[in-house]
Order: sequence, then C-alpha cells, then structure tokens
Amino acid sequence: MRRLGGGLAILLGGALVAVSAEKPADLILKNGKIVTMDAARPEATAIAVSGDRIVAVGTDAQIERFRGDATRVIDLAGRTAMPGFIDGHAHLAGIGDARIALDLRGARSWDEVVSRVAAAAKKARPGEWILGRGWHQKEWTSPPEPNVEGFPLHASLSAASPSNPVLLSHASGHAAFANAAALARGGVGRETKAPAGGEILKDVSGEPTGLLRETAEDLVDAALRADLAKRTPAEVTADLDRRIDLAVEECLRKGVTTLHDAGVSFDVVERYRQRAEAGTLGIRIYAMLSASNEELEKSAAKVRVVGAGRNHLTVRAIKRLADGALGSRGAWLLAPYADAPGSTGLNTYSMKDLERTAEIAVASGYQLGVHAIGDRANREVLDVYERVLARHPKKDLRFRIEHAQHLDPADVPRFAKLPVLAMMQGIHCPSDAPFVVARLGEKRAREGAYAWRRVLDAGARIGNGTDAPVEDVDPIASIHASVTRQPKSGPAFFPEQRMTRLEALRSYTVANAYAAFEEDLKGTLTPGKLADVVVLSKDLSTVPDEEIPSTRVLATIVGGKVAFDASR
Ligand SMILES: [Zn+2]
Repeated sequence: MRRLGGGLAILLGGALVAVSAEKPADLILKNGKIVTMDAARPEATAIAVSGDRIVAVGTDAQIERFRGDATRVIDLAGRTAMPGFIDGHAHLAGIGDARIALDLRGARSWDEVVSRVAAAAKKARPGEWILGRGWHQKEWTSPPEPNVEGFPLHASLSAASPSNPVLLSHASGHAAFANAAALARGGVGRETKAPAGGEILKDVSGEPTGLLRETAEDLVDAALRADLAKRTPAEVTADLDRRIDLAVEECLRKGVTTLHDAGVSFDVVERYRQRAEAGTLGIRIYAMLSASNEELEKSAAKVRVVGAGRNHLTVRAIKRLADGALGSRGAWLLAPYADAPGSTGLNTYSMKDLERTAEIAVASGYQLGVHAIGDRANREVLDVYERVLARHPKKDLRFRIEHAQHLDPADVPRFAKLPVLAMMQGIHCPSDAPFVVARLGEKRAREGAYAWRRVLDAGARIGNGTDAPVEDVDPIASIHASVTRQPKSGPAFFPEQRMTRLEALRSYTVANAYAAFEEDLKGTLTPGKLADVVVLSKDLSTVPDEEIPSTRVLATIVGGKVAFDASR
C-alpha cells in the first residue's frame, strides 16, 4: 500500500490508490483520450508510468501530481491511447520470412507469378532456393491453362528457374507449389506416394503438377531444411535474428506489443530467451511450443518460463494441428465439401496422440492450443478437451482452439461450458468469404462459419489475431473485419455474426491477455499493469466503421519506452 503523500486519493478499479507528489513518474501521457478497456474506469485523459508499469490513470490534474524534473511528458493533443494490441495467434519468424521471400499476394495471374520468379532466378546464386508466398488462384483474373483443379502445371515455372529450386507457399499456408528442381530435390516423382494427411496433386498422365497439399509439402521442405542444416550455427542464429528483427519492427509499427507465437521449436524459444534476457526482443512473446510428444515429455518442463526478461518471454503453451485449411480443402469436416463431394478434408494429427499431448501439457504446467478449422476437427478436439478437463477438474487449464473457424451449432455452447477459449482471427472472415460458400454450401456457411455472435452469446471467450504471415499482422484491419465482416468487394459475410465494437477491442486486449494467463499484467490500462500502450490517430471505440481502416498507429510504447514513433 502506497503511503498517502500529497493528500490526494482517487478511487481506481475499486481500490484506493494514493497519489503522491513526492514520487515522480518516468513518463506521463496527458491531454489525450485514454481508452483503458478497464470497466472500472473506462476513460481518462492521462497516465503516469514508472519503470515499466502504469502507476496511475486519471485526469490531467490528477496525473500532474506525478510530474517531476526528470519526467518525460508526452502531450497526446487529444489523440487516443489504448492498451497495446495483443495478437493472439501469429508466427513471428514467419512474419520475418514473409518480408524476405517473394511476396506473391496480389499477383493477377499465374504468368505474373512465373515472371516474378524468373526475375528472382536471374539474381540468385547457383542452387539457391527461391521462396515465395501468398499466391492464391482465386486472385487470378483467369484460371491457368492447362490446369488441374484450377491449379497450374509446373512446366512454365520450371522453365523460368531451371536450376534453382522454387517453393511457393499458398496464401492459406496449407499448400505449396514447387518447380521441377524442387520436386527433384524432394524426391517427388510420378511413383511417389503422399504422406498421410497430404496430397501430391497429379495431372491426367500421373505426373506431379507441382502442387503439394498439407503434409506433402514436407517432402520438399525436408530438402530445403537439409540445405539450411548445412549452415554454421552462427549463420543459423544470424538468419533467425534477421527474421525476428524484421518481424518485431513490423509489429511495433502496427501497434502490436505482445504476440502469441503459435508453434515454435525449442531452438527458436532458446534464442527468444537469450534476447529477452539481453533486453533485445523488442516486443513480448507468448510462445507455443511445437514438438513431438516424446520431445515434450523430455524437455517441456525444463524450458517452461513465465515472464523472462522483464516479462518479454513466456513459454507455457503447446501447439498442435488437428486439420488443414478450408481454402485448400484440408479442413476436416463432418460432411463432405459442397464442391468436392468425395472429400471431408484431412485429419493431420491423431486424437489419441493429442490426448497424450494434453496430459503432458497438464503434467508439465502448460496450456494447449490446437489448430482446428473444420467442424469435425473442432468437435474431435472438444471431445479430447472434455475428457482431459474431466480428469483435472480443479485446474485452470484454459485450453484453446486455434481458429475455431467452422463450427457445428451443437458444439458452440461447449466452448462456454468446458470452458475452451476460441482463438479466432477476424481478418480471416472477409479474406476467405469469396470461397466459403462454395466449400460449405450456404446453410453450413451461415450457421457455423466464423460464428462470432453465436460463440459470444453462448458465453464463451474469443481471442483475436491475424495468423500472420497468413494475413497482415495489422490489428486495425482485423478489428474492422470483426465489426463489419466486409470483404473487399460484395456484401458483408453473414453480418448477423458481427462483433460489437467493444467485443472486438476486448478480443484484441483483455481476451488475449486472459488467453495467456496475463490478465493481471496486460489488456487494460490499469495501475500496476505493464505500460504497453498504443497511440492512435482516431478513437477505435467510437469512430464510424468506415473510418477504422484509415486509423493510423502514431506511437507504440512497450514497458514505458517509446518503441515506435511515426513522427520520426
Ligand atoms: Zn497459425
């Protein structure tokens, strides 16, 4: 309890907090519109920060008491400040990779993709891999000729890059396209059988087209990894650091102060830890480990850490994938695809092994987050969670389903009842809208696709995010999508499932803090919590929907330090 100093006491969050003129703050933000996200005190005009913590929230006059000779004072000039955004599901190193690889988003034809690769091949060293990402056949003005299921054949790509292996990830992240050199490096030929949970798409003559779905990508990925494995340890670390730096720079520019990193190796986590402890991580990471059950049993408990490097790194979650994505028809469905009646998608990890993962998580003090997109995948994962939760009724486990994208209405109440957190990405809805009805048919799409309203009305929690680099890591675009469900063109996608403005902002702040067991540290601007703040050109809690996308991030503050300043 702080000593009553200057005699001024204000009621904050129901607790009496003494405001002393004798203990100056390091930083004061004043003359702003502070959207605290704290129901106990939703609005204020000023904040005082000492070290990396918020010490007071109030009016300019109340906060003036914290000003000392060395206090840095930022005049917000009426601008909005709110809690730093928390991306509840993204891939940090992938964001870095996306900035390094060829960006094929927006390519209007297969020929355009090929010509961009041809240009890169001219500059590449002999044998060097050319990586690209973000292409999607739905963005092409016409289907490639010839094609199989709307996907091209690799001949033109192979001619454009005869000696450099090329691997181009689909925008969904659940398929990739390889040229002849990459297929050869991966040992993929006409006789090659796809691994379980994957598909090598072949043409009528039985030759691989170049398209590799789900686990079939691993064949070529393995060759790429084998080449990467020839790097020295110093080269490996330097490459990872470059990816981290590029990603962190982008997160800060977009107001993201914490990122839930949905699937990282022990090696990456170790580098995060080193950088967190050295004070060079830049943002806060909530890491979800991706490793086999055997590796987790051996090492998960040892690497578990909460709040390392002054709360820059927490490692206490495990990530699994139960199925693929809807765009590439990899989502595991209860009934066949409307546009592929012979298929119900792919189950990419056995539920028996998943149940074991869940028990390992409980035993080693970890949370579990499972990627489930199709309604069958969601039901199966909920079934596993239900059994495991029943065995540990006293524990606060906060199991998560990542994406929870297509739900059977019967399963929606289970998210509230068990409970299980629904980690859904607002921006996926308008991005996927052009093909969801084709895949699922109108009825299933209306009842269960991105069913935010149903999930929230059932009393469950939704954490938001972007799955970057699948989508841009921009929280503002995802918040806009959450409240409008408006694709680039055409009508809003089943707008009755929209979130309210407050729900969308909560899904990016308090809900994601809770999803990481960090509700006492983050998610609201409340005395005692970390001073992670984003300053915006407009007030996201009140601007009209159509003005949300043009809202700019003016500054991003992490732990009381200005980490991004748009004016510089
Ligand atoms: Zn993901």
